[in-house]
Amino acid sequence: MTLLIDNIGELVTNRDDGLGLLAKAAVVVDGDRIAWVGPSYHAPAADRRIDVDGAAVLPGFVDSHTHLVFAGDRAAEFGARMAGEPYTGGGIRTTVGATRSASDDDLRDSTERLVAEARRQGSTTVEIKSGYGLTVEDEARLLRLAREVTEETTFLGAHVVPAQYADDPWRYVSMVCGPMLAAAKPYAKWIDVFCERGAFDEDQARTILTAGRDAGLGLRVHGNQLGPGPGVQLAVELAAASGDHCTHLSDADVDALAGSETVATLLPGAEFSTRSAYPDARRLLDAGVTVALATDCNPGSSYTSSMPFCIALAVREMRMTPAEAVRAATAGGARALRRTDIGVLGAGARADLIVLDAPSHLHLAYRPGVPLIRTVLHNGVLQ
Ligand SMILES: [Zn+2]
Repeated sequence: MTLLIDNIGELVTNRDDGLGLLAKAAVVVDGDRIAWVGPSYHAPAADRRIDVDGAAVLPGFVDSHTHLVFAGDRAAEFGARMAGEPYTGGGIRTTVGATRSASDDDLRDSTERLVAEARRQGSTTVEIKSGYGLTVEDEARLLRLAREVTEETTFLGAHVVPAQYADDPWRYVSMVCGPMLAAAKPYAKWIDVFCERGAFDEDQARTILTAGRDAGLGLRVHGNQLGPGPGVQLAVELAAASGDHCTHLSDADVDALAGSETVATLLPGAEFSTRSAYPDARRLLDAGVTVALATDCNPGSSYTSSMPFCIALAVREMRMTPAEAVRAATAGGARALRRTDIGVLGAGARADLIVLDAPSHLHLAYRPGVPLIRTVLHNGVLQ
C-alpha cells in the first residue's frame, strides 16, 4: 500500500546542513518507509493520494528527553515557585513516592495519555527515562512500562540520591551500578546521570556511566542545569550521545562540545517552568555545536509535551532562528539519539511526518500556542 502526499507548499527534508527546503513537493510513503521525495510534477502514482493544499510538511519531531512515566503532579509546587520560591530539584522525591505507590495499570494509562498528547503535537519519537522508582524493582518496572511505548528508553536510577542513602551516597551508587543496572538493562537502551550539585558528583557520575557503558548501554548526561559543573565535560570525555540542559557553560565546556560528537540538548521548558535564565543557544551554534531541542516533560520542572512550544521558546528566548529551532527539534533530536532513520525526509527514512495548518515552518514560532499540527503520520500510519 503506497500513499502519495501531494501539493506540499514547503517540504522540510533536513537533507543538508539547513532545512533542505523543497517548494511544490510531494512525498510517497510505502508501508513504514519514505519511498520517494521530489517535485510534485514528477511524483509517481500511488495507491492513495492526499492533497495537502499548499501546507508545510516536516519530519515528525524527535523529543529526545522526557520523563513520562510517573504518577501525580506538582502543580502546587509550580504555583509556589511562581510566587517566588526557588527550584531545587528536591520535589523529585514527591514524584518518587507517588510513582512507587501507583499500579502498573495506572502508570500505563498516564504514560499512554502523555505519549498521545505529544503525538498530537507532532512528536513521532519520544525518548523516556526512568528515575522515579529509585529501587531495583521500581526502576525496572518503569523501564518495562516505557518500553511498551518507545524503543528509546533510558535508565536514570541516578536521578537523585534517595533520602535513606543521604549519609552514604556511594552505597546508592554501588546499587545503581550493580543490581539496579542488571534489572534495568533488559528494558533500557541508554543510561543517564543527573550530574549536578545536590545530585551526583563527577566521580559518582563517571562510575555510573562507565558501568552502563560496560553493560552495553549508550550514554546521556543531565548536567550544567542549575549551575556550572563537570557534567558536560564528562559527557564529552565519555563520548556520550548527548549532554542535556547546558544552561551554565564555560568557554571550555563549549569548546569541548564543539570538538565532539556529543549533542547539546537544550530544554527551554525547564527554564520557562522554573523562571530561570535560558541556555545561550546562539553561543553553541556559533561555535559549531550540534544542538537538539527537547521538552524534558516531567511533573516538576517542565510539564509540557509540546515540541512546538519549545521551538517558539528557542526562537524568542534563546535567539535561535526558526530554521535552527525546527532542525534542532527534528534532525538534532535524531542525532542526540544517534539515529539516521528519523528526523529527515528522504527515501529510506521512517515514514514519520507532520502536516502543518500553515504554509511554512516559520509559523511554528510565529504563531506560538496555536495548534498547527493538522496531520501526523507515524510509521506510515495516519494518527
Ligand atoms: Zn531531564
